[in-house]
Amino acid sequence: MTQPNSAKCQICDRVLSVHERAVGATCRLPQCKHIALRRELATQAKVKADLVAKVHRYRDFVFRERKCRQECPDAVILPANTRAIQSLQGKRIRLFRDRLMRQISVAMVMRYKVRALSRKQQVNEEHESNSSTIVASACATCQGDCCAQGEEHAFIQPETILRYMKIFPDLRPIEILAKYMACLPAKTYTGSCVYHGQKGCGLPREMRASLCNDYQCGELNGLCHHVGNSSCSTVFLVSVKHGKIVRGSLIDSDTGESRWKSSSIEKSSLMSVESPGSTETKSRKQG
Ligand code: SF4
Ligand code: SF4
Ligand SMILES: [Zn+2]
Repeated sequence: MTQPNSAKCQICDRVLSVHERAVGATCRLPQCKHIALRRELATQAKVKADLVAKVHRYRDFVFRERKCRQECPDAVILPANTRAIQSLQGKRIRLFRDRLMRQISVAMVMRYKVRALSRKQQVNEEHESNSSTIVASACATCQGDCCAQGEEHAFIQPETILRYMKIFPDLRPIEILAKYMACLPAKTYTGSCVYHGQKGCGLPREMRASLCNDYQCGELNGLCHHVGNSSCSTVFLVSVKHGKIVRGSLIDSDTGESRWKSSSIEKSSLMSVESPGSTETKSRKQG
């Protein structure tokens, strides 16, 4: 039976059943599904290749502008936080404080039940103290896209408080609460963690949840792998959102220190990398 809204299979043009329409844009024939999948994969590959080409144009543009030799042929793509900054609302602060008070209360009970911290926590502490500068530089280029998930809890658990109590055993619960509250930035990124401010995370590492100290997104893991396998002295990092370049930085592969960074990509360089060939024209004009 023909459907009132007669959507058709994007491959064979046959009218789709209600069920077929609910699950996709093709009919149930295996050959149609196969062709659609191949097309989808080809589209994704093209989008990725276009992005990589754009990132390479941006890298070349930066190296040319800075008149320096290009030492590393690769550019590593990272996520990008593009949220707007705004004053931290009182409602969010109250939500956070109420939850934090509960975490501190639980931690106090746990403190008397469990005298020694578990082996797992000790391992985490060791890991946290070895935090790499490369990771810090990369996350600074991204500006904390993953921190959006911190919402009004910042991943703080009773275990986080217990760890902090172990470092400062004389602090009373009210003082711990005050210390955490004092770290809230006045302005934070819209829709992100209550501690996510323009200067990064408002919490020092010893006050952050283990998850915050340990987490690395796939792109960051890729960067660490790249650095471990590359003989280049520098790595070019580009943070990207929805296929658009947002920021760039150049870091030292050995120390992780930043050699150059753009707080945001300038309009002129953006135009140059968005339209292939225009960088050549621009540099020839300038030269
Ligand atoms: S872990 Fe990944 S998403 Fe999170 S701040 Fe670092 S680069 Fe960005
Ligand atoms: S506490 Fe800091 S690191 Fe953790 S989610 Fe919030 S801003 Fe990010
Ligand atoms: Zn079909």
